[in-house]
Amino acid sequence: METILLLAHTETYGSLAKPAREALHAAATLHKSLAGSKLVVGLVGENVQAAANSIAACPATKYFSVTGKEFCQARYAGDAAAAEAICKSAHATIVIAPATSRWNRVLPGVAQRLGGRADTHVTGVGVGGDKVTVSRWYYRQRMEVALQRTQRPWFILIDPGSQPACECHAGNATVENVAVASPDSVKRTVVIGIREPRADAQTIRPDAQVLFVTGAGWTKKQADGQTHVPEAEKLIRGFLQLTRASLGSSKSLVDQSGEGQAVLSFLSHLNQIGQTGATPRHAKGLSTCCHGEEPHTVGWRFIAERRAVNLDPNCGWARGKADVLYVADAFAVMGKVNELLAKM
Ligand SMILES: Cc1cc2nc3c(=O)[nH]c(=O)nc-3n(C[C@H](O)[C@H](O)[C@H](O)COP(=O)(O)OP(=O)(O)OC[C@H]3O[C@@H](n4cnc5c(N)ncnc54)[C@H](O)[C@@H]3O)c2cc1C
Repeated sequence: METILLLAHTETYGSLAKPAREALHAAATLHKSLAGSKLVVGLVGENVQAAANSIAACPATKYFSVTGKEFCQARYAGDAAAAEAICKSAHATIVIAPATSRWNRVLPGVAQRLGGRADTHVTGVGVGGDKVTVSRWYYRQRMEVALQRTQRPWFILIDPGSQPACECHAGNATVENVAVASPDSVKRTVVIGIREPRADAQTIRPDAQVLFVTGAGWTKKQADGQTHVPEAEKLIRGFLQLTRASLGSSKSLVDQSGEGQAVLSFLSHLNQIGQTGATPRHAKGLSTCCHGEEPHTVGWRFIAERRAVNLDPNCGWARGKADVLYVADAFAVMGKVNELLAKM
C-alpha cells in the first residue's frame, strides 16, 4: 500500500503558491486512482497553519509540519532536515512535490539520504496496470518518456504549469508538528535580500495567456534600407503593456547584445526560447520577425496555439511549425494590433 505525501513549502507570507496546489492536484488524482493508497500532507515554513487550512477539504487524512523562523527562507541544510523528518514521520513511499527552485535543490539529496530515488521535471503522474507511472520529457522536450520505479521512497517533482491547480476548499486542519533540531551549523547561510527587476521591467510572466516572441528581424534593415529599432521597441513594449503577455525571444536577437549591435534594451538571455533556452507553457504564442528554425521551435512544445508573422512565405513556421502564418510586415501588423487593443 502506497502512502502518498504531498510535500510543500509555504511562501514568505505563509500562503501556498500555485505550483504547490498543482502538485496537490497530481497527488490527489494519483491517490484516487491507486486503490488502497493513503494521502497525507507535509508543510515546511515559519507558520503553516493558514496554508494547511486553505487546503483542508482535500482528501488528505493527516497533516505534518516543520515550522519555525529558520524555515521561512530557503536554506539547504534546514530544508533537507525538515523534508527528511516529515518523510520519516509520514512513512511516505511516494513523495510528490512542486518543482520549485527551493525543492529542486533539496529533494534529490533527501532521496539519497533515505535510500530512495528522485525524478525532476515530471509533467504527468498516473497508474499504468497497477503501477505508478510518471512522464517527463528528454532531449530538450523532443521525447516523452513514461517510467515506473520499484525503489521507495520515490520523490516526484512536478513541473509548475503542467497540472491544473487543486481547487479544494478551506477548513480547519489539524497539523502534527515534527521536531527538527536546528543547530548553528545548519543556519550558516543567511538570505540578506532579494534582487529582482522592477515590476514593469519584468517581462517573463509564466502565468500569461500569451507568449509574444521577438526575433532578429526587428533589428534588421527594412524595405527602406534602414533599421527601425526605436520603433520596434515602442511596438513591442506597447503590445506587452496592453496584453500583459510574456516576452520570449530567439537566440539571434538576445545574442546581439553580446555582439555590441543595436538591440532591444529589455531583452536578456532569460527571454530565449528553444533548445538552449526555455520551454514555457502558455495557451497561445505569437512569433514576430523570427524565422522559426528547429532549435528555436522546440521551445514551443507546450504552446497550445501557435501563430507567426513573417515577411518570408518560406520561413520555418510555414513548414508545419505554426498553426497560422501571416505573411506580412510585423511593424505594420503590430502597429494595427496595438491600435485595436487600445480601443478595447
Ligand atoms: C545548437 C544550437 C542551439 C540553438 N538554440 C537556439 C535556441 O534555444 N533558441 C533560438 O531561438 N535559436 C537557437 N539556435 C539558433 C537558431 O538556429 C536560429 O539561428 C535562430 O533562432 C534565428 O533567430 P531569428 O529567427 O530571430 O533570426 P533570423 O534567422 O535572422 O530571422 C529573422 C526573420 O525576420 C524576418 N523579418 C525581417 N523583417 C521582418 C518584418 N518587418 N516583418 C516580419 N518578418 C520580418 C525575416 O524574414 C527572417 O525570417 C540554436 C542553434 C544551434 C546550432
